[in-house]
Amino acid sequence: MRIAVLTVQGAFIEHEKMLHELGCETIELRQKKDLEQPFDGIVLPGGESTVQGKLIRELDMYDILKEKLDGGMPVLATCAGLILLAKDIANDDRRHFGTLPVRVKRNAYGRQLGSFHHEGEIKGIGTYPMEFIRAPYIEEVSDDVEVLAEVDGNIVAVRYKNQLAAAFHPELTGDARFHQMFLDICHGDRSRG
Ligand code: GLN
Repeated sequence: MRIAVLTVQGAFIEHEKMLHELGCETIELRQKKDLEQPFDGIVLPGGESTVQGKLIRELDMYDILKEKLDGGMPVLATCAGLILLAKDIANDDRRHFGTLPVRVKRNAYGRQLGSFHHEGEIKGIGTYPMEFIRAPYIEEVSDDVEVLAEVDGNIVAVRYKNQLAAAFHPELTGDARFHQMFLDICHGDRSRG
């Protein structure tokens, strides 16, 4: 299994470490030519969605990534990555891949709750340590989106087809079960993308 991690900006190293622990090979997507290599899934890491969105366009990576995502390539998107995937963003005029039919709110917890830790339930996993850093949450989902986790009534993890997305940072807590869930999606769909 070979997973491509978008490494133009943000918290990608921890994702790579976790994927290595789970026995995966990773490649880094830093520039357009990196997209020519074969891979089975994509990780869109946390960071700053505005910067990431700008860079993938400037580096001419947007169209190829968009085509892969539209084609059903499995993707794990965390925090800023979730914002890149979202069809709608409540408090930002920018739109990026728009493949995930949800509305997110950026920096949704305000200043005081900019960063916090929460032990919560994830459907299919159980109690899981969630690390939120200037996180978004999901305000609304379309009917066919599966809600995997909520914190205080706000949606923080979803699955839609081959897209797994979380408002928190599963790569930071040393608990590999969320990444394993993503790899299970990749295994089920190797033929696509
Ligand atoms: N606040 C960031 C954004 O809006 C996301 C933060 C994160 O990825 N930890 O893009």
